[in-house]
Amino acid sequence: MNIHEYQAKQLFEEFQVATPKGASASSREEVQTVANRLETHHLVVKAQIHAGGRGKGTFTNGFQGGVHLCDSPEKAAGLASKMLGNTLVTHQTGAAGRVVRKVLVAESVVIAKEYYFAIVLDRAIGAPLVIASTEGGVDIEMVAEKFPEKIIKEAIHPLLGLQPYQARNIAQRLGFESSKIGEAATLFLNIFKLFLESDCSLVEVNPLVLTQDGKVLALDAKFNFDDNALFRHPKIAALRDTTEEDPREVTASQFNLNYVGLDGNIACLVNGAGLAMATMDIIQYHGGEPANFLDVGGGANEQQVTEAFKILVSDKNVKAILVNIFGGIMRCDIIAQGIINAVRVLSLPVPLVVRLEGTNVELGKKLLQESNLPIIAAEDLTDAAKKVVAAAQA
Ligand code: GDP
Ligand code: MG
Repeated sequence: MNIHEYQAKQLFEEFQVATPKGASASSREEVQTVANRLETHHLVVKAQIHAGGRGKGTFTNGFQGGVHLCDSPEKAAGLASKMLGNTLVTHQTGAAGRVVRKVLVAESVVIAKEYYFAIVLDRAIGAPLVIASTEGGVDIEMVAEKFPEKIIKEAIHPLLGLQPYQARNIAQRLGFESSKIGEAATLFLNIFKLFLESDCSLVEVNPLVLTQDGKVLALDAKFNFDDNALFRHPKIAALRDTTEEDPREVTASQFNLNYVGLDGNIACLVNGAGLAMATMDIIQYHGGEPANFLDVGGGANEQQVTEAFKILVSDKNVKAILVNIFGGIMRCDIIAQGIINAVRVLSLPVPLVVRLEGTNVELGKKLLQESNLPIIAAEDLTDAAKKVVAAAQA
């Protein structure tokens, strides 16, 4: 799960991560109220969407940039009115962009230097990893590509956590003056505490800044949380903004389906994550493009299968569906009955290929055959992939 920058700011405050004061607003009037409360004429107004690159983004109404500095609450309100309700396109949103429903109004600072600082859960080392750079700001992807030597990496011991000496070491390598190293290190340690205690998989601060008056502050924030740990954090789970998510994924999560939307045209309904991955691979191998990853799980019931079909069918890009089920604990005849019922309720608009294997497979196949529904039966995974790719191209 992701959260907005203004929500991240609240978490920063809770974990004593130094950050400029600010709050969110969803109307012109509210922007002015928030700006007045900040009691400063150095303001910044920032579009709140779940994507970065806002500074260099463009609104579909022609307005340039989702991050603007200004010097009065009235000007802040004027800037916000150009952003609120409008669509912002950045290099992270895709061409469709995202509608801005809120802005963050914050105290602006005079920046002396911008840095990049992130903590990710690194699969390769199986531990959290600090990634930092002196070349922070808006072009970090370019830096990583062209000047990889400017990216500092520091592995964090999974049990001991980020150690104060490591935090000071990172601050030193980033070139902080000796008088600032303590302050920067404290900021890093507090970010790590937040990362660990909130079960984050990513905290990215870009830019982390040294201000002209010598403060070290987190100026932007992008967080990812481990969905499987959200039950431990009801306060964070409540920050979820489903308007920022793929509507197909929002529906899927309501029915406990593991669904990830993709760009292809072959929908997949599979039980088990490994089998789902293998199914996507084999579709691709035979020249097709999967429209989604969908794992209905080992114990899927008929309602879940029906809901899963509804999501697949509602996707206008889908040209064919492949059901690939291995009946282990779940018997093939039960699955077959679920498919038959779902197909009857939904009257599928696209071809459906079904491959069943495992417990009671013969009975399952018999049920599908006797249903008289236009279901294309497949013998094995390769046969299924070839048939569904052909069906999608027909
Ligand atoms: P992003 O483009 O979505 O990553 O949004 P950021 O929050 O990182 O803002 C983009 C850029 O705007 C930053 O890299 C800064 O250069 C600039 N910026 C943001 N807030 C301030 C501020 O308070 N003062 C100044 N001078 N620049 C700011
Ligand atoms: Mg940024």
